[in-house]
Amino acid sequence: MRDILAPESARWRAFVEVFARVAGAAGYQQVMSPLLEDLGVFQRIGDATDVVTKEMYDFIDKGGRHVALRPELTASICRAFVQHRPTTPWKVWSTGSQFRYERPQRGRFRQFDQVDIEVLGADDPYVDVEVIALGWEFYRALGLRQVALQINTLGEPDDRARYVEALRVHFQAKFDSLSPESQATSQKNPLRVLDSKRAQDQALIASAPLIADFLSRDAAAHFATVQAGLESLAIPFTIDPSLVRGLDYYRRTTFEYQGATLDSAQNALGGGGRYDGLVESLGGPPTPGVGFALGLDRTLIACDDEGVFPAPVVDVDVFVVDTTGGEEALAITASLRAIGVRVDRAFDNRSMKSQMKAADRSGAQFAVIVGSDELAAGSVVVRPLRAERTEDSQTTIPRLDLISYMQKALR
Ligand code: AMP
Repeated sequence: MRDILAPESARWRAFVEVFARVAGAAGYQQVMSPLLEDLGVFQRIGDATDVVTKEMYDFIDKGGRHVALRPELTASICRAFVQHRPTTPWKVWSTGSQFRYERPQRGRFRQFDQVDIEVLGADDPYVDVEVIALGWEFYRALGLRQVALQINTLGEPDDRARYVEALRVHFQAKFDSLSPESQATSQKNPLRVLDSKRAQDQALIASAPLIADFLSRDAAAHFATVQAGLESLAIPFTIDPSLVRGLDYYRRTTFEYQGATLDSAQNALGGGGRYDGLVESLGGPPTPGVGFALGLDRTLIACDDEGVFPAPVVDVDVFVVDTTGGEEALAITASLRAIGVRVDRAFDNRSMKSQMKAADRSGAQFAVIVGSDELAAGSVVVRPLRAERTEDSQTTIPRLDLISYMQKALR
């Protein structure tokens, strides 16, 4: 878990603002759900998922309730859907910190942030296309170019069940050649073995049966429409038959955006898919859903690698230097802030030299200086601070003209 200081913190905020703009422009509205939920909400994600079985920050609260810090947003949003019964399709976006007790490394943290899209109550393959396209558009808006989209389908629940059985038989036949971790997974949920990045498992994964041979006509048609939709939007993608994603609840479409500059174990910038049964298992009516979560921390690493989306500059415009006790600075900062100028000032009646140093550090374009001479004369000194301002020379103006002077100078 990390502290995010300036200027990186401004970048995080800008990241969410870009996402809010992209999602808002497509009719998505924000949901803010609690960081803490009843443990049961997350257990519905599935009992063969590491996120649930090994990585949850769960504890008993003072009221004896077994609760957990959220490891992801989808389950919370489905819980909110069941609780509030909004009209469908419910198109929402969300953001915030998630918590997973993972082994920290580059691009993998125990507290990390996500931005998220969910659409509940629409089965239409064009919703899948819209959702996938939104993620794609968002990466473009950040300036990322080296992102690859992988898609797959897991079929209808019946197709998936027959496929999982075939996988079980396949892995059982060569059980000894699997890594110990995949041996355990193959017993609980053979599908998840396809997620393994361990070298030892790759041969058996490569020779595994393919979901394409188990798809019902409906599932195949749904997947074909998703592909055609992406093609018509000129969004490039590859079909990856082993893309099952870490969570157990997916059916039909799954997808992942991968960053070309990241190590393969941590190259998923974001991903999602359709989920079935999640709303029902939380006590709601049968409701289709599709969505994605994009990792903020990891996507910013990709931005660094590509040299895009730098931290925005959040400097002030003016820094007030007052060597007469600070009361002048109080009045000047208030009057400038009232007209929307970004102003900072020094405190503790420091020396002129020390206040001017602080003014330089602040990144302000101008210092407004009040010493005892200016105080007596009812004037202030305006001094340009930045190199690009050197053609404006320092000037002394009547204190009463400061507002209009600054309005003009900062225009
Ligand atoms: P998931 O919720 O597992 O589908 O993950 C969606 C995205 O969240 C991933 O593609 C990552 O970008 C991000 N993510 C998941 N787990 C972590 C983590 N431990 N640290 C940083 N980012 C993560």
